Amino acid sequence: MRAAFCTAILKKIRPVGAPEAAAGRGRIAFSSNGTPIRATETRVVAQDSPLVSWASGIAAGLFATLLPSDCRLCGAPLINISRLPVCEDCLGAMRPITGELCSICGERLVSSFAFAGESCSMETTVALCGICRRLEPPYVKATAYGSYESGLRELIHLLKYNQVRPAANVLGRMLAEAIEDLQPLFAGSEVLVVPVPLHSRKLRQRGFNQSELIARAALKRKVAAGRFHLRAGLLERRRETKSQIGLSRHQRRENIRGAFVVAKPDDVARREVLVVDDVFTTGTTVSECARILRRAGASKVYVATVARTLKTEAQHGMPESDAEARLTMAAAG
Ligand SMILES: [Zn+2]
Ligand SMILES: [Zn+2]
Repeated sequence: MRAAFCTAILKKIRPVGAPEAAAGRGRIAFSSNGTPIRATETRVVAQDSPLVSWASGIAAGLFATLLPSDCRLCGAPLINISRLPVCEDCLGAMRPITGELCSICGERLVSSFAFAGESCSMETTVALCGICRRLEPPYVKATAYGSYESGLRELIHLLKYNQVRPAANVLGRMLAEAIEDLQPLFAGSEVLVVPVPLHSRKLRQRGFNQSELIARAALKRKVAAGRFHLRAGLLERRRETKSQIGLSRHQRRENIRGAFVVAKPDDVARREVLVVDDVFTTGTTVSECARILRRAGASKVYVATVARTLKTEAQHGMPESDAEARLTMAAAG
């Protein structure tokens, strides 16, 4: 907000007689809240000079770096200078998921709807949600750090839609925590990490694949880094898919079917693969990735995401299609 304001001011003001390249040297002072309080020897000049906009772009960048702005989530003034414009309170509020969850897909189980499945041993029972009970997913287990709501959803949106790349580091830390959950399940000493790919057109539009950025940030933090090998090109998205919003589970599966291909099946054969993504909404996308990885010969596939949509207690009482429609709408928002 403040940086945009500074840019607007600088676009209008340049010292008289100064060469255009020196436009940024105009004696302009800003109060602590960014209001210009002195701007002597200046007059308004034409705004369309490329050099003026270049200089003001540089200046805006400097202001954004040097002056703490407001938190992009709650609007509170930021005290510390950080590349991520989000305050400590907002970051601290993004807590890990707690409570009883489905042992396979990680959906929240509400006591009266929870299902105590087969006993693995005398002490443990496997709790499964209704969906995993009816059709076992093609992955061993999907785990997520936090619930896809409020702050965490906005942080992911800052990265995906507002190009705030430093958000990937925080999201990577969360993904690393989710991966930690899976560590006891990995059988081998090497796991291939495969981010869910974007279609090439979307990749060009956005400039980066958020899942890959988050995966890179997560793997930098891993103590057992030798175990994980990032293989971003292993899966390719060959077909663009229409929005999943408002589709039934069956329609979503049909919509995504055949969208991905394994680029190098030989590299996947008999390997353990960890599919990573930013959000697990209904699991259709990661399930399709897991399905084709298994078909290419992967021994086991696991899934880790930063966030997951979770059913509320009220949605557990609804017919499944209604509850899913609400979840999908919530995820889209
Ligand atoms: Zn905040
Ligand atoms: Zn489940």
